[in-house]
Amino acid sequence: MEKGLLIVLSGPSGVGKGTVCSALRKRATDLTYSISVTTRKPREGEVEGVNYFFRSREQFEEMIRKGELLEYAEYVGNYYGTPANFVQQSLEAGKDVLLEIEVQGALKVKERFPDGIFVFLTPPSISELRNRIVGRGTESKDTIDKRMDTAVEELSLIKHYDYAVENDQIDAACERILSIIVAEHCRKERV
Ligand code: 5GP
Repeated sequence: MEKGLLIVLSGPSGVGKGTVCSALRKRATDLTYSISVTTRKPREGEVEGVNYFFRSREQFEEMIRKGELLEYAEYVGNYYGTPANFVQQSLEAGKDVLLEIEVQGALKVKERFPDGIFVFLTPPSISELRNRIVGRGTESKDTIDKRMDTAVEELSLIKHYDYAVENDQIDAACERILSIIVAEHCRKERV
């Protein structure tokens, strides 16, 4: 059986990755979404096993030691990582898998999966990015500043990605990502 495609979506905090992923989940029901593990505390409304698997630092470090993570990174004081088995098994079963992860983790995935499709979601502008993080109302001023610093660093790494998709409008951004997936399936090397 042909293996599925691994699609890696990154972009700075506040660009709307979560919203775009939720919209993709509704529209592209044949896509498989990897649920990450994090040591961050759940935000209001976030559900264990839906948004993340929320774990303590000790539990996370145990997963690292046991080699259970495909990649992991520390982001603004918390660990985030991708469970390896789920991704491997889904790809083997021919399913396309979407990872929504930050840039350092994405670069590690690229080493292991050079055939992955790396998509970077960009904001219309840096000031719009800050407005979106502030508007979310879930982060302290200090965390917002740290997320903005990280965002500027992340934007400088866009060169490692195959595609840049502007998130000016959620439906349009989704449409572009789905078109990329269709195009990648049509690549001569894959058929
Ligand atoms: P948030 O705290 O806003 O949910 O996520 C913070 C950052 O962590 C986002 O850029 C998100 O894409 C990234 N992230 C989420 N899950 C993972 C993961 O499994 N691995 C890595 N490296 N980053 C992740």
